[in-house]
Amino acid sequence: MAGKYRFIPEMSEEQIADVQLEGLRWTVAHAAQGSEFYAARLREAGVEPGGIASLDDLRGLPFTTADDLKEGYPLPLLSVPESDVVRIHGSSGTTGKRKILSYTQDDIDTWKDMFARCYELAGLTTLDRVQICVGYGLWTAGAGFQLGCERFGAMALPVGPGLLDIQLQILEDLGSTVLCSTASMALLMGEEVQKRGLAGKIKLRKAIFGAEAHTPKMRRQFEESLGLEDSFDISGMTELYGPGAGLECKAHNGIHYWADLYIAEILDPETLLPVAPGEVGELVVTSLRKQASPLIRYRTRDLTRLLPGRCECGCAMPRHDKIMGRSDDMFIFRGVNIYPGQIASVIEHFPELASEYQIVLSRREGLDYMLVRVERLPDIPGDNDANLAKALSDEIRRHILVRTQVEVQKPGALPRSFAKTKRVQDDRSED
Ligand code: ZN
Repeated sequence: MAGKYRFIPEMSEEQIADVQLEGLRWTVAHAAQGSEFYAARLREAGVEPGGIASLDDLRGLPFTTADDLKEGYPLPLLSVPESDVVRIHGSSGTTGKRKILSYTQDDIDTWKDMFARCYELAGLTTLDRVQICVGYGLWTAGAGFQLGCERFGAMALPVGPGLLDIQLQILEDLGSTVLCSTASMALLMGEEVQKRGLAGKIKLRKAIFGAEAHTPKMRRQFEESLGLEDSFDISGMTELYGPGAGLECKAHNGIHYWADLYIAEILDPETLLPVAPGEVGELVVTSLRKQASPLIRYRTRDLTRLLPGRCECGCAMPRHDKIMGRSDDMFIFRGVNIYPGQIASVIEHFPELASEYQIVLSRREGLDYMLVRVERLPDIPGDNDANLAKALSDEIRRHILVRTQVEVQKPGALPRSFAKTKRVQDDRSED
């Protein structure tokens, strides 16, 4: 059926592969010619900039990392004359200098179209009113959600992050139909909507959320408290334009990513070789038409896996699973590598518990201890806390093979945050 989508191209696998090969050729030649950094890297790897003959040649290309962005600060990877750069964005660097990425007008236009695809896949219409509750300014989040919204043709309500009272006022007065925020923020707004008795007065139908790991339980909680029909996980990163690099579809079976704009590889973070099909590894991306800051095999640190086969929603773009955490979030406890998401997925099995959790690591007499704090749901009486705690501790031991202490707290006891909730508090001193 022609014309199902306005923004998402309907391409066969062969067509996607053709576009990828052409884009890879262009990117390598462009980067080698425009950037001293890339020229040197490619030379060291023995790559002839004009020698890309097939997609398999990707394997021979050197990697690019976040450290390369820091070393090239403030304008790393710049591959066009500075006069062609029309904008920069930055990401929140947790340590040291933040990452700055530059954009040409063509990059901005690509991003705009890329993000419009996300709204399209989420089933929005031009009559939707999109409340954007994410960071503006240096961050890509606000800019991306807004550019995409305007390109798509819906109405953008750019509130920004936080500002709970204003959020609720706009939600009620403007009748916002789509909420764009982090999962934590959606959860917080849902709690406030319930507390203030606004459920019957708002018109929200959908939420697009991203930027942090979430659990199905967290999602059910905000879908219910906000009265949503559906919600969609969005992917993206500043290095790859910003948010909008992919979106979950109505089938809720993975994230469709725009394979005509970038190539996604899933590699073992230790060996940097491809993992077996369907296995979890680090997402490594290569851009196909980024001009100002092209990416060649950029290590995202995000953990996910590719999903085989065509999606039942009919969208021909390939899928990866939700982001399962970051290799950086990993902590080592008594010699075991643990991702916070693993703890979250065990908590998920307990219908009595909310999705909020906190992990506190401590050290006594040379031995490490892990305390997991969770909250019981509002309708669960508190007299069973000790049994619940023991049951969760046993489950964690069974799944992750570590011994933990569990504390079940009353609803709302754990710290909430507008942005990314910090899950792990590491009190182990380094001495
Ligand atoms: Zn789909």
